[in-house]
Amino acid sequence: MTINILFAAKANRWPQYEAPLTKALNAAGVSGFNLSTDIAPQDVDYIVLAPNGPVQDFAPYTRCKAVLNLWAGVEDVVSNPTLTQPLARMVDHGLTQGMVEWVTAHVLRHHLGIDAHINGQDGVWRVDTPPLAEDRPVTILGLGALGTACARALVSLGFDVTGWSRSPKDVPGVRCLNGDAGLRAALESAQILVLLLPKTPETEDLVNAQRLAQLPKGAFIVNPGRGPLIDDSALLEALDSGHIAHATLDVFRVEPLPPDHPYWAHPSVTVTPHAASDTREGTAAQVIAENIRRSQAGEPLLHLVDRDLGY
Ligand code: NAP
Repeated sequence: MTINILFAAKANRWPQYEAPLTKALNAAGVSGFNLSTDIAPQDVDYIVLAPNGPVQDFAPYTRCKAVLNLWAGVEDVVSNPTLTQPLARMVDHGLTQGMVEWVTAHVLRHHLGIDAHINGQDGVWRVDTPPLAEDRPVTILGLGALGTACARALVSLGFDVTGWSRSPKDVPGVRCLNGDAGLRAALESAQILVLLLPKTPETEDLVNAQRLAQLPKGAFIVNPGRGPLIDDSALLEALDSGHIAHATLDVFRVEPLPPDHPYWAHPSVTVTPHAASDTREGTAAQVIAENIRRSQAGEPLLHLVDRDLGY
């Protein structure tokens, strides 16, 4: 029987994904599949989903065995009341490596004070030796696929890395904390704070005025996680007062960030356009294909989302 795989993303994604998905499905040994952007809902076995794509109502997909998300973040899908099928999120080498590169670059930028020289080409010979990485405490909130990979990369550069997660973790070289008491300790030491938490009801506004105050004066914030992790008004106040030296923000409550948003003009904010890391079709296709192979073989899916936790 044909395995019908619906590709449900914005139209410009199909030419990018058609060949890699076909190749990966063949390589995974999935036979007799029909991969298309147009399949009658009642005939669909798997949905390859971008949450901003055409499928928003999952109820008609009565035969669907799994929804395979192309993105790491699932906040726009997980609470969809019509979704009853298992949901897997994207954990992909390309996405992870891209995030490691972006986070490492922005941590090093703030650590080394690179801005002072980029903005200071004015004939003044500034000599200001930064501390070594081993003397720079960096905290990562979120020790999942991305947070752990970034923590490992920063440890390999010599940084003094603390990570914080919901459940206890053990990552070599990383001080791993969890729970409320752990969060306070993680914040109090963080000269550079990296946010790699998912957006859930528990994490929304986690970085509020009280928690910003727990960071050391002059701390830097790097947020490639999700915009709602931060209380924007509290952050702007902390930036204006100088308590926070700089915020590098890749994600926002409203995207694209509206042109009149105060972040754009703030001298201590760097806005990047949700570009920290994108799913890469070559490697992501292999993850999707492997999950379809697993499902067909009756094996458990990789990267299943916990509907109660929301990530
Ligand atoms: P993940 O593997 O699901 O990891 C999430 C981490 O957050 C886990 O360590 C989890 O703790 C922790 N966490 C969740 N809720 C928590 C809570 N209430 N308190 C403490 N810790 C909590 O996710 P991921 O693949 O690393 O991705 C993280 C996020 O990055 C995504 O959700 C997405 O929002 C964002 N992202 C952004 C971009 C971009 O381009 N800007 C690209 C990809 C992803 P446990 O380990 O204990 O479960």
